[in-house]
Amino acid sequence: MHTSYVGINKLCFLLSLALCAFLLLLIPSLQAPSRQGSLPQPRAANTRRVNWTVLPDTWGNSTTTEAHHLAAPQTPEGNVEHPQKGITQSSFVAPRVRDPLELRDVFIAVKTTKKYHRSRLELLFQTWISQVKEQTFIFTDGEDRELRGKAGPNVINTNCSAAHTRQALCCKMSVEYDKFIESQKKWFCHVDDDNYVILPSLLRLLSSYSHTQDVYLGRPSLDHPVEAAERVKGDGSVSVKFWFATGGAGFCISRGLALKMSPWASLGNFITTAEKIRLPDDCTVGYIIEALLEVSLIHTYLFHSHLENLQRLPSNTVLEQVTLSYGGFENRRNVVSVGGAFSLAQDPSRFKTVHCLLYPETDWCPKTNHH
Ligand code: UDP
Ligand code: MN
Repeated sequence: MHTSYVGINKLCFLLSLALCAFLLLLIPSLQAPSRQGSLPQPRAANTRRVNWTVLPDTWGNSTTTEAHHLAAPQTPEGNVEHPQKGITQSSFVAPRVRDPLELRDVFIAVKTTKKYHRSRLELLFQTWISQVKEQTFIFTDGEDRELRGKAGPNVINTNCSAAHTRQALCCKMSVEYDKFIESQKKWFCHVDDDNYVILPSLLRLLSSYSHTQDVYLGRPSLDHPVEAAERVKGDGSVSVKFWFATGGAGFCISRGLALKMSPWASLGNFITTAEKIRLPDDCTVGYIIEALLEVSLIHTYLFHSHLENLQRLPSNTVLEQVTLSYGGFENRRNVVSVGGAFSLAQDPSRFKTVHCLLYPETDWCPKTNHH
């Protein structure tokens, strides 16, 4: 008796729950327009500008309207969709309301110094920078007429010291940060002047996250978090542990996260913050994001510096990486292994070879006999 009474009670309770759920489901359909406001809103389709940046869209972001204005994809790719991390829009929303990321949304900062303008930067201008001239900014420490002629207002003379000291490097990072905030772009990516950026891969990687969320992407150079003594008020210090993305491999930060970094990074605060832990620029970025803002680095092994053995990267995966690098004077043979247009003697960094594989139509790439 007692059990069946409880059973009826349960049944009533469940029925009323089901009714409530049904009523709740009706609410959105009654007031659909007002609810949409709380979701991340894409730009209206008719205000979207056509992307004329001529890039072989190897990853075929071909669900976008822009893709149709571009050259046909070089490789059939099966339209892999990358879920937008954390975005609440569900997959049955019509594809045209998606807001595809374009390369013009990415601010690329290249850190350099006067003595490398010729020996390193020239190669970058000849290769990947030629594809993203408008949104790539060169942060250097000395005036150079020739460079200015090539990149105009995209050369930023930081007036930081040309020394390879912690202070000088943090000074440059501080200017990079301020320029990015000013730019209104969605993503900040930092690279060194010995990095090749594989733009289709970069776009593909960033497209799988939302710039409005807290995203810090890069490659740790250590297999453990760094431990630093954080100076505190008075004269003491406490120990802090955090991961950081190694600057020599490049890293990216979403605008949403960059804005939160402002109290410790903007208008010279970056230098003060770096002094608190007395570590280099890339560690300071990690400190602000991981230790102060409590946002975790997303570890990605698509970024590469010459601290690793680049020859170990399988040849058939090289074009899928996001950044590459090459060994300096001390290790000339630490380069990615790709065969193609140029010999090791002609192209010691392998950047020209990679570039011709990505953009075979480039005028200085050897003509292929296939067409
Ligand atoms: N760099 C700089 N000032 C210097 C020396 C180097 O801004 O006095 C830059 C350089 O242009 C590069 C980065 O710092 O973008 C790292 O330099 P490098 O590749 O020579 O050293 P490593 O990668 O071994 O740290
Ligand atoms: Mn380097």
